[in-house]
Amino acid sequence: MPCHHSTVAARRPKIGGFVPFSSTDWPGKLAAVVFVQGCPWQCAYCHNPHLQPRDETGAVSWAQVTDTLARRVSLLDAVVFSGGEPTLDPALADAIHAVRALGFQVGLHTGGAYPHRLAEILPLLDWVGFDIKAPLADYERITGIAGSGEPAFAAAQMLIESGIAHEFRTTVHPDLISEDELFALAETLVAMGGRNYVLQGFRQQGCENDALTRIQHAEYPSRQLQQKLSAMFARFALRR
Ligand code: SF4
Repeated sequence: MPCHHSTVAARRPKIGGFVPFSSTDWPGKLAAVVFVQGCPWQCAYCHNPHLQPRDETGAVSWAQVTDTLARRVSLLDAVVFSGGEPTLDPALADAIHAVRALGFQVGLHTGGAYPHRLAEILPLLDWVGFDIKAPLADYERITGIAGSGEPAFAAAQMLIESGIAHEFRTTVHPDLISEDELFALAETLVAMGGRNYVLQGFRQQGCENDALTRIQHAEYPSRQLQQKLSAMFARFALRR
């Protein structure tokens, strides 16, 4: 049967938020950040819980985002797709093509929940910030979702093998991940071929989990752990 649609219209992602200028979301670049609506996980430390439900109406239309970006081509290096979990959105590849066509480099923040979709978009990306949450056996404790670690590690391996510039990051909070677990995770990443690693201090801002919002222990992560990780990776940093 002939197809009635000779041209397929570009699909539009559902956008939960937009930050026009950021120097921290892709280190070294001045980027706009597009927050895609929806995430399949429920991390206790999430500072964007309003982005978790997929069935929310997007707060910003894709047309507004592209109009704004078109006016800022000369002011920005890049656009970062963040979330939520941007690879959840079936329109992500079309959105990346649209942003590239405007002349921007493209970065992605992901936790790797959808390895097949990541495989589809990896060739379109210049950089990936990959949120690796815990050793495989401990993933559910962080994300609240059984079986969340397997896709994440498959996606992480795919990213390493792609050769695309990236960094792995883990959010650290002493109630959620111990130093022994952080070290075990780092060993796994090194064995997989990971070379860039960042520990990110838990940020209270936006987090709705009151149990986590107390003052943290000053010696976590300890200097000893930081020194060990510095020796294991080509590049290691602690971001508070
Ligand atoms: S993966 Fe990210 S957006 Fe999703 S619940 Fe966890 S911290 Fe929040």
